[in-house]
Amino acid sequence: FVLRFVAPRQVINRLLARGYASSAPTTKLFIDNEFVESKTNKWVDVNNPATNEVVTRVPEATQAEMQSAVNSAKTAFAKWSDTTILTRQQIMFKFQALIKENMGRIAANITEEQGKTLVDAEGDVLRGLQVVEHCCSIPSLQLGETLYGIAKDMDTMTYRMPLGVVAGITPFNFPAMIPLWMFPMALVCGNTSILKPSERDPGATMILMELLREAGCPPGVVNVIHGCHDSVNFICDNPDIKAISFVGSDQAGEYIYERGSKNGKRVQANMGAKNHGVIMPDANKDSTLTQLVGAAFGAAGQRCMALSTAIFVGDSKNWIPELVERARKLKVTAGHEPGSDLGPLISPEAKDRVCNLIQAGVDAGADLLLDGRGIKVPGYEKGNFVGPTILHQVDPSMKCYTEEIFGPVLVSMEVPTLDDAIKIVNANRYGNGTAIFTTNGATARKYTMECDVGQVGVNVPIPVPLPMFSFTGSRGSFRGDTNFYGKQGIQFYTQVKTVTQMWRGEDAQLSTGSATAMPVMR
Ligand code: NAD
Repeated sequence: FVLRFVAPRQVINRLLARGYASSAPTTKLFIDNEFVESKTNKWVDVNNPATNEVVTRVPEATQAEMQSAVNSAKTAFAKWSDTTILTRQQIMFKFQALIKENMGRIAANITEEQGKTLVDAEGDVLRGLQVVEHCCSIPSLQLGETLYGIAKDMDTMTYRMPLGVVAGITPFNFPAMIPLWMFPMALVCGNTSILKPSERDPGATMILMELLREAGCPPGVVNVIHGCHDSVNFICDNPDIKAISFVGSDQAGEYIYERGSKNGKRVQANMGAKNHGVIMPDANKDSTLTQLVGAAFGAAGQRCMALSTAIFVGDSKNWIPELVERARKLKVTAGHEPGSDLGPLISPEAKDRVCNLIQAGVDAGADLLLDGRGIKVPGYEKGNFVGPTILHQVDPSMKCYTEEIFGPVLVSMEVPTLDDAIKIVNANRYGNGTAIFTTNGATARKYTMECDVGQVGVNVPIPVPLPMFSFTGSRGSFRGDTNFYGKQGIQFYTQVKTVTQMWRGEDAQLSTGSATAMPVMR
């Protein structure tokens, strides 16, 4: 009472953030299959990006809490790694069914904490669910190799063995899909896992934990800790954690890759992006513009596979005015509002950063064809909204091109030939995704062969591979050597044990004397 009437708002916020007083519910840790209230005195507010009201407070777990999560995973590993593969498969069957049943609930949580539209949030859950569905094939996926008769009465076989305790660190932009790239694959291979979701929207992960427990997953197989840098350092340094899967920004990814690798862990790190859409003059205009608008501004541009740069080749530049008109018509409002095309950015800081990068483009001489700054969204005046924005005649040296904007901003340029477009794409530091729009097969083939990018779409704007393939970023978008999900995901979460055995009948003629030369098995 006293606080409310005498302290300025900033002081109250600071006190709330420190955990001295609050009415918002808290997000729990998940240890040993129990939702546990943290004893920390450090808390992070999660705000609804459409209103900036606090929806939950996330603890920065204490060292003792994080250690107890690892202890739980370590203890569980002995038993879990020894369960039959069919038992693990059955849990995945139940888990995927429960995710489907709870799709709406998870999506609503994502919209509340992350801001994306409800339909987009369902897509977030669905793309993660597809990984869980794929995990249901684990008896085939985890098969090793065998070769009989490599020498007289001798056979060799390989087993894909789990690593032990592994960890996942996830970003804010796909609160369901990216955790689901990680822990289901890890556990179905026989590992146990520690997950640290983004401190900005951990709610989807917590619902998934509830469902995983309901699916019959035993205590300790997946544990969730929360936090910021201290929890990341804990994961990088803890000797019982054998591997780290990371998705997020360059800054964090480079750091985690280096610190984790130095400590002898496997690390896979998916990082930032600047994805180019190359528009050929022979492309189908209507479908290209439709796809471009969706891929540039969907999720308010907060996708690592957003098409954030358009390169118009030759006469396709004549389509730019129509592109601008289509982008202008998108409806910007809170993600749960009917007809919303794009919701708010994750935070006021993200909004400021995006607006500053737009201004940097203008200051450097780009043409601002559509300006989404200063947009007013009725009923959501405090939200972090930026409307669709298009900067044209952008030069590759400009900051709005060299930086990942991660907002609803399309930077665009004109070039005379496909070769010019390829040069620009390959000179960029990132290599996450790209798309070419054309009706010419030879053009498409040339582009797909010559661009140095992990995921290429031909008339497909966001070519995120389904889980029977892997998510394959290259250059500055990825660190490590084994990608997420698919066959590579199984490789990441297992190590190969090779067994060579000889079985001879009692009547076999044994050689006399011990051979001291290297066995050559002929
Ligand atoms: P982020 O790096 O800020 O956060 C990701 C995780 O790292 C969080 O759990 C956070 O707590 C932790 N973290 C943040 N800063 C850290 C630091 N300095 N040191 C150690 N840990 C830190 O990323 P974000 O803003 O949540 O997500 C957006 C970024 O993620 C964008 O750059 C986007 O391109 C990228 N992303 C990439 C992919 C991909 O597959 N390539 C997919 C989704 C998002």
